[in-house]
Amino acid sequence: MNLIEKVMQSQQLNKAEIVEVLLGDYSELANAADSVRKRYVGDEVHLRGLIEFSNHCKQNCCYCGLRCENREVDRYRLSPEEIVAEAKLAKALGYRTIVMQSGEDDSYSVDKMTAILKQIKSMDVAITLSIGEKTYEEYKAYKEAGADRYLLRIETTDQSLYHKLNPGMRFENRVRCLEDLQRLGYEVGSGCLIGLPGQTLESIAEDILFFKEFPLDMVGLGPFIPNPATPLADCGSGNLELSLKVIALIRLLMPDINIPATTAMETLDKTARFRALQGGANVIMPNVTSLSYRKKYQLYPGKSGIDDTPQKSRAVICEKVLALGRTISEGYGFRNNK
Ligand code: SAM
Ligand code: SF4
Repeated sequence: MNLIEKVMQSQQLNKAEIVEVLLGDYSELANAADSVRKRYVGDEVHLRGLIEFSNHCKQNCCYCGLRCENREVDRYRLSPEEIVAEAKLAKALGYRTIVMQSGEDDSYSVDKMTAILKQIKSMDVAITLSIGEKTYEEYKAYKEAGADRYLLRIETTDQSLYHKLNPGMRFENRVRCLEDLQRLGYEVGSGCLIGLPGQTLESIAEDILFFKEFPLDMVGLGPFIPNPATPLADCGSGNLELSLKVIALIRLLMPDINIPATTAMETLDKTARFRALQGGANVIMPNVTSLSYRKKYQLYPGKSGIDDTPQKSRAVICEKVLALGRTISEGYGFRNNK
């Protein structure tokens, strides 16, 4: 039995076996992931409307264009009214999940955030937050105000690399956040960057084992793309094929979770998001942020879809999803298709 057959049967692999699969051929892995995806989560693709509501960030992650030491960013933050208006537009466009993402921006107090969440929740949508590290009490308040899911990538489980690339942050606190979110009943999503300088295949294998062990409800990952205004300006991009392999393998190890095909992948190759959908992924997060702000949310250069209106982003994606023989989900898109 080869390793792909083994993981399809047992949903288990050890670290050395994961590395071996990642060194192997993509096409057999992608075919296996596609059939497992179909069997466990079906043909529906869940679309989540992404609102990038603030590019202010107090953190200083070496890979990210929003890091606080980057003086080249034209900073913005949407008012509560603007955020609610963008959510209304997303709902009108047909989204059943709104993803609210930002840098770590403390100017949104708990009271302000909970008021925004309650207004958005009254539109009968699921809400995903991706706003970084908070206290247990803050996560609790957001959950009670209507947040359903939370995305917080671990970025890398190689702790020395994590501490090198995330000055001032603690790996233990990132894990504490994920545990708090799980304890509070959120659907928890995490993930990693592929191709960080100094990252090895072994450390990516450890990331994959961490996701499985946790266990997560969603895993989102993508290639690292260097931003010229960061300390990693001169590093090479992460490998797209390796990112696709990691997605496919995660589908085999965690058959019923939600896995997005991410924008960073599409930034490296226009067809990548759809290749990911054919290799295990079942979620896309089209951008609904208004164009004037979207241009300023530059984690990395060349971000795909930067000039598309929210209407166009959705229309283009729907057309491509249908062309793959898949359907657009009309549900909230919780894990296990609730
Ligand atoms: N601030 C929140 C956080 O860090 O969790 C949410 C927003 S942050 C911009 C979302 C994700 O962007 C990060 O988890 C990171 O993996 C990704 N990211 C940042 N810089 C990137 C880069 N240069 N290439 C690819 N992805 C990047
Ligand atoms: Fe801030 Fe998130 Fe970027 Fe880190 S990855 S600098 S926390 S926006």
